Amino acid sequence: MKKIKVIGGGLAGPEAALQAAALGCDVALYEMRPTRSTEAHQTADFAELVCSNSLKSESENSAPWLLKQEMRRANSFLLAAADASAVPAGHALAVDRSEFSAKVSALIAQNPRITVVREEVTTLDEDTDQVTVLATGPLTSPPLTAELQRLTGSQHLAFYDSISPIVDASTIDMEKVYLAARWDRGTADYINCPFTKEEYVRFIEALSAAETVPAKEWEQIPAGGGASASVPKYFEGCLPIEEIARRGRDTLRFGPMKPAGLTNPKTGRWPYAVVQLRQENLRADSYNLVGFQNHLKYGEQARVLRLIPGLESAKFLRYGQIHRNTYINSPTVLTETLQLRTHPNLLIAGQLSGVEGYTESIAGGLLAGRFAAALAQGRAPKPLPRLSAHGSLIHYITHSEAKNFQPANITFDLLPPLEEELRKKIRDKKERHRIQCERALETWDRWLAEG
Ligand SMILES: Cc1cc2nc3c(=O)[nH]c(=O)nc-3n(C[C@H](O)[C@H](O)[C@H](O)COP(=O)(O)OP(=O)(O)OC[C@H]3O[C@@H](n4cnc5c(N)ncnc54)[C@H](O)[C@@H]3O)c2cc1C
Repeated sequence: MKKIKVIGGGLAGPEAALQAAALGCDVALYEMRPTRSTEAHQTADFAELVCSNSLKSESENSAPWLLKQEMRRANSFLLAAADASAVPAGHALAVDRSEFSAKVSALIAQNPRITVVREEVTTLDEDTDQVTVLATGPLTSPPLTAELQRLTGSQHLAFYDSISPIVDASTIDMEKVYLAARWDRGTADYINCPFTKEEYVRFIEALSAAETVPAKEWEQIPAGGGASASVPKYFEGCLPIEEIARRGRDTLRFGPMKPAGLTNPKTGRWPYAVVQLRQENLRADSYNLVGFQNHLKYGEQARVLRLIPGLESAKFLRYGQIHRNTYINSPTVLTETLQLRTHPNLLIAGQLSGVEGYTESIAGGLLAGRFAAALAQGRAPKPLPRLSAHGSLIHYITHSEAKNFQPANITFDLLPPLEEELRKKIRDKKERHRIQCERALETWDRWLAEG
């Protein structure tokens, strides 16, 4: 049996290693931290969540729920660790990040089939006696990025994402804010900071005038999609607030500051705009400003964010930041079983393969671990059922138009639609989604049972 080398101890890597080990393979798991870190990681822990602590919706028959259900049925180790570290977050699965990392680290440390190597990997050899899973994520170290580029012979895409600030809970003025769940659905786990029209206008003006961090030279490399040399190309699903504000005075009020469904018990009405804070850890001593990724200078963030009602004296535990995002052009270079077309013993998993998000990255690791185990044991990895969420995600990254390829989260758009006739008959979107989920889980269970 061939040995397996997994590179990257973030989300995809540990899941891949644990899956392959569970299937009887010996795995060497390489992680460069703490010797060398990335621009976003703060610890040397496995499975560090670098920004929000949310693994998205748990609402039944939503697309993120479906993906998680499939992962649970496939015995995802990291999702089980997430479930066991959950903190209250309404309809979402949010975790205590330290507890989550600690649980994953313990699983790896206790697994006799996994050997941990704390070392930066800088070369990728096509070693036929070994199967390699590359899961080094959006901040893959530059020498390895260059190596991957050499091996695939293709250009990497790079674009820019940003992360939200975190506030110390004890410094929030609880007299000014209120707890509520949007449309009263789920438990009221979010703290809402309500704005009057005047407060909102003042905030937008300050935000628009605030100074951003200048892009470093390496950040000005034109992005794959053709962004100009001076304007970074952002992922549309994770725009910084100053960029949203630039698009119009009310754009934030219809985006991350949307007040709809958030009745303020003090007034009985929706505020003009709102900033939502989501609990960060089990002790509830820190909160994340939901959707408030930004790239302002830290001093400017302190000044502008303290204009949010309730945060006038806030202490920020972390400020928003911008970061690089590296991913391969999967439609050109990757097979449906996550193998490089030109180097079938090299599999790519996680965000580097063009999936977006924590849960999607873990899902990619789960698949890569299983595919790698099959290859190591001399079996052909079995392609995924297209109807499943996993199958749809991998279908997206391997069949999208290569020219404008962008990473994606799981959504119903990626799943095959219901037949035309059925769509006409069932007008209720929720019911259509329920049927799609039912079909997905059926085919997924069959795929799992077939081994
Ligand atoms: C700053 C930032 C914020 C993000 N915020 C969110 C968010 O809020 N919600 C969300 O769902 N997703 C978010 N993402 C996107 C994505 O879900 C995460 O990046 C996720 O961690 C990706 O998982 P991964 O396993 O592919 O990569 P990672 O978790 O980044 O793991 C890769 C690992 O590989 C290691 N590594 C890199 N190069 C080498 C090398 N040469 N040798 C050895 N080890 C190496 C790194 O140290 C790291 O531990 C964010 C991404 C970034 C960068």
